[in-house]
Amino acid sequence: MSTALVLFRQDFRLADNAALTAACRAHARVLPVYIHAPSEHAPWQPGAASRWWLHHSLQALRGQLATQGGDLHVTAGHTLDTLRTLIRTSGASEIHWNRRYEPAAIACDTALKAALREDGIVVHSHAGGLWSEPWTLATDTGQPYRVFTPFWRKLRTRLPNPVPLPAARAREWLCLPGSLPTAALGLLPTLRWDIGLEASWTPGEAGAQELLEIFADDAVLDYAKGRDLPARHGTSRLSPHLHFGEITPAQIQRILHDRAARIDARKRPDLEPYLRELGWREFAHHLLFHFPQTPEANFNPRFDGFPWAPADDALLARWQQGRTGIPLVDAGMRELWHTGWMHNRVRMVVASFLTKNLRQHWRHGAHWFWDTLVDADLANNTLGWQWVAGCGADAAPYFRVFNPYLQAAKFDPDAAYIKRWLPELAPLPAKVLHEAGKHSALLAARGYPAPMVELGASRDAALVAWGTLAKH
Ligand code: FAD
Repeated sequence: MSTALVLFRQDFRLADNAALTAACRAHARVLPVYIHAPSEHAPWQPGAASRWWLHHSLQALRGQLATQGGDLHVTAGHTLDTLRTLIRTSGASEIHWNRRYEPAAIACDTALKAALREDGIVVHSHAGGLWSEPWTLATDTGQPYRVFTPFWRKLRTRLPNPVPLPAARAREWLCLPGSLPTAALGLLPTLRWDIGLEASWTPGEAGAQELLEIFADDAVLDYAKGRDLPARHGTSRLSPHLHFGEITPAQIQRILHDRAARIDARKRPDLEPYLRELGWREFAHHLLFHFPQTPEANFNPRFDGFPWAPADDALLARWQQGRTGIPLVDAGMRELWHTGWMHNRVRMVVASFLTKNLRQHWRHGAHWFWDTLVDADLANNTLGWQWVAGCGADAAPYFRVFNPYLQAAKFDPDAAYIKRWLPELAPLPAKVLHEAGKHSALLAARGYPAPMVELGASRDAALVAWGTLAKH
C-alpha cells in the first residue's frame, strides 16, 4: 500500500490544498504532519499573537481530520531529521508540501528538498496560497515590479477564476504513535492576556469560511466606502486566516463571484476594490521575494541616511500601550492589544505617528506589530511599514504626515471607534475628541494623558529631517 507524507506549515486547510489533494489522489495512505521548528524561521520566529493563533489553528485542523478518522501528527524538532525518522517509520515514498515565500522559508525548503532527494525520496512542492507565485510576473523588461498599479494591471488580466479544489479526503489517514498534544508545543501564553483574542476570533478553516460568508452577505456590498470606517465591520477580517493558509484568494474570489452573480445586476457589488486589496497582498509577496533584505533594510536606500530620532524606550512604551494622548492612535493601539488586530486605516495613522511625529525608526513599529498581530505577515507588514514611512516601494511620500485629528473627524465622525477602545472618554463629545490637544484639561479629568508631542511642531520637525535627505 503506497504512503505519502504531507507536510503542513502555513496551509492549515483541507480544501483548495494542492499538496494534500495530490497526495490523497496518488496514494492509498496519507500521513499529515506538522513539525514545530521555530528556530528555522530566525530571525522572524512567530510572535506571541501568531503563536496563539497557530495553537488554535492546529487544534482546528486536528478536529477536522478527526471527523474523517485521522489526526495531524504533531511533533517538534529539526525538520529534516524529523522527516527522515517519520519516513522510516511510515514507509512513505513521497513527500508533498505547499510552497512558502519568505526568505528563510525558501532557504529551508530548498535545502530540505535537496537532502531528501539525495535520500531517494520523491519530493513534490505545490503552489501555495497566492493567486500568482512571486516569480511569475515581470515588467516588459523582465524586472520585478516596484510600483503597484502596473503590477495589478498585469495580474488582473491574468487572474484565473479557478474552481478551488474540494476538501481532500484520504482513503486512509495514517496515524503514528508519538504525536504530541498541541499544548505540548507551549504556544499559549502562561499569563492569560489572550482573553480578548479568544473573544474575537475562531482560528481554523471553518472560522475562515464563516467570516467570508458574513462578509459576502453584507460588508462587501459597501466595501469601497465601508473599508475606511474603523467603527464598522466594513472589511473581511480574513487577514489572519489568509496568513495561516486557512483560506486562499482563489476560494474568496470564487465565493464572492458566485454570490454576486445571484444578485440583481443593479444591486450587484463591485468586487474590484476588494480584489485589489488582495492584489496588494500579492504585490507584498512579489516584493519580499525579489528584495529579501527589506524586512530590515529600507527598500529605498536614500533613506539609509535619514536622521531618525534615537530609539527611546519610554516613548515607544507609551505608543505600544496606547497612552500617547492622541485618541485615534491610542484607540488603535488598544484594539491591537485587546484583539491582536487593527483596522487598516488606523494602522496607517499609528505608523505615521510613530515614524513621523515621534521620528522613531519604522523597524520598531514593525517589530511590535510582528509580536502583537494575529495576522503578522512578513510580506504585508514590511510593505505596510515601509509604505507609511515613505521608504518603501510605491510608498506614500515622506512629507505625507497623517493628522490623527483630521483622520478621526473624517473616518470616525461620531468617535464611535475611539469611544469603544477608550471607554474613559466615552462621555465626551466627538468634537472634543477630534481636537483633544485643545481640551487637555477635560481629558485629564478623566485620567487621560496630555498629548506626548505637539502634532504641528513634530510634523514640522519631521519635514525638516526629510529636507536634509532630499538634498542628498
Ligand atoms: P480587507 O480589507 O478585508 O482585505 C482583504 C485582504 O487583502 C486582507 O486580509 C489582506 O490579506 C489583504 N490586504 C488588505 N490590505 C492590504 C495591504 N495594505 N497590504 C497587503 N495586503 C493587504 N496585513 C497583514 O495581513 N499582515 C500584517 O502584518 C500587516 N501589517 C501592516 C502594517 C502596517 C503599518 C499597515 C499600514 C498595514 C499592514 N497590513 C498587514 C495590511 C492591512 O492593514 C491588513 O491586511 C488589513 O487591515 C487586514 O484586514 P482585513 O482582512 O479585514 O482586510
